[in-house]
Order: sequence, then C-alpha cells, then structure tokens
Amino acid sequence: MNIIFSEKCLEYSWPGHIEGPERVRKAFEFLKKKYVFLEPKPASMEELLKVHSREYVDLIKNARAGSYLDGDTPVPENIYEFARLSAGGAMLAAREKGFSLMRPPGHHAGRNGKALGAATLGFCYLNNIAIAVKSLDLQTLILDIDGHHGNGTQEIFLGDPKVTYVSLHRYPHYPGTGLRSQGNCLNFPLSYPAGDSLYLKTLDKALGQVDMTGIEVVGISAGFDAHQGDLASLGLSSEGYREIGIKVGALGKPTFGVLEGGYIGENISRDSHELIQGLEGK
Ligand SMILES: [Zn+2]
Repeated sequence: MNIIFSEKCLEYSWPGHIEGPERVRKAFEFLKKKYVFLEPKPASMEELLKVHSREYVDLIKNARAGSYLDGDTPVPENIYEFARLSAGGAMLAAREKGFSLMRPPGHHAGRNGKALGAATLGFCYLNNIAIAVKSLDLQTLILDIDGHHGNGTQEIFLGDPKVTYVSLHRYPHYPGTGLRSQGNCLNFPLSYPAGDSLYLKTLDKALGQVDMTGIEVVGISAGFDAHQGDLASLGLSSEGYREIGIKVGALGKPTFGVLEGGYIGENISRDSHELIQGLEGK
C-alpha cells in the first residue's frame, strides 16, 4: 500500500490544540522509510459539493482566521485550503487503494457541518472519507475504527443504497451518537476498556452482518484514538491494529484507508504500519 501525503498538512496549527502537526509528523518520519509516498491535489468545489452543502463549504472558506467554528474547532489561517488538500488525499487513497496520512480529519463533519445533534465538529471541517467514497461511486463498505462514532459519515450516507457504514466506537463518549444501528448504518458501541480481544470479536460480529457479495471497495476511517491511553481509548494495542488489518484484508476486497483521529504520534506511526501490514496479509 502506498501512503498519500503532503508535508503541507504540517504547516497549520493552533496553540495548545490536541489536533496538531506533531501527531502526523512523527508518523511521516516513521513511515517514509518503509513506503512509497504519493502527493495529493486539493479536492475541487464540485467534488466537495457531492457531500456538503454550498452554504457549509462557503462557511469554511470565508471563516475568519483566528476565530472558532465551535468550542472544539478553531479556524487556523487557510484552513479551507488545508481541508481541501486532506479531502484530495482521501480521494487519491481511494483511487490508488492507498492510505492517506493527511490532516485535518473528517468523520464528524456532516452535510451542513455539525451532525446528528453533536455539539461540535470535533476538529473536522470536510468529511474526507465521504468525499472519497462519493468520488468512486461504487458499492462501498465504510469501516470506521476511530474510537469516536463517525456521526458526520453516518448522517451523509444514512439511507444511501450504495454505502454500508459500520462503526466500532466508545460509548458513552463524544459525540454522543451511534448507540444503535439504523438502516445501512451499523453501530457497535463499546465501553472502556474493551481491549483487543473483545474489540476483535465485535469486529467479527460487525463484518458478519454485512452482505459482502455486492461490495466493490472497502474504505477504512482509520482513527487510532482507540489505542490505550488516547482520547477515546478502548484499550487497543498495536497488535490489535494488525489483527484489524488481517480481518479486513481477509474480506478480499480492494481497500483504502484515511486517517481520522489519534493524538499520540508514536502510536499513529506504529498502528498505521501494523494496520497496513495486516491488510496486506503480513
Ligand atoms: Zn476520534
């Protein structure tokens, strides 16, 4: 699997914010010795509008640098350009069956911003995986392994006959959604500390509920904040991420990954490598 990355995504930050460049810089330094890297291009307005409303895209585009969209989600200078590039990274990952290591993350962003009654955008601006899935326009399974529920992704694809959304996440926890399954969105809330063993059993159960026959591609919303000690810890270890990769790889479908959360750079480095190795059956 190739890694999709541009060092431009390390250029923005917000003082004291947990979603900072260091989390990804460490992973970049670690992975660049092991993988081929591809440079993404920013997603176009037309590509963004397949997922988001014009009003919402304009809101991000015109937001005043230095302000906040909400209590969690600041407006660093040029955030619209960084968000477009991250969305473009996800699209390239989808096309190349690679892994996008770009920031900012995306799965809390819904069609018009905050999704399913959540209080904030949770450090997300544009929903990268949703934009990538729409760009392929294939029968898709989205597997969201970030420790938080991807409320934005669920909102965008609820009732969409081309997409099945499966999420394993900590509950009760931010953003407070994902307690029950609804239609094509299958939710598996877990309480801390689930640990590798219960998590992987739950993943088996989740994948067992998906009719895989028509699925043409699998997109992983790959957050690593369910790692022990991170923001939405479910007590997972790096070996757990390799096992997740092995299980998804065993589905035998073309697969790509898009970085979501994960705030401890050393863990993102190791966990993304383990996940990819697992996907490749190693
Ligand atoms: Zn998360």
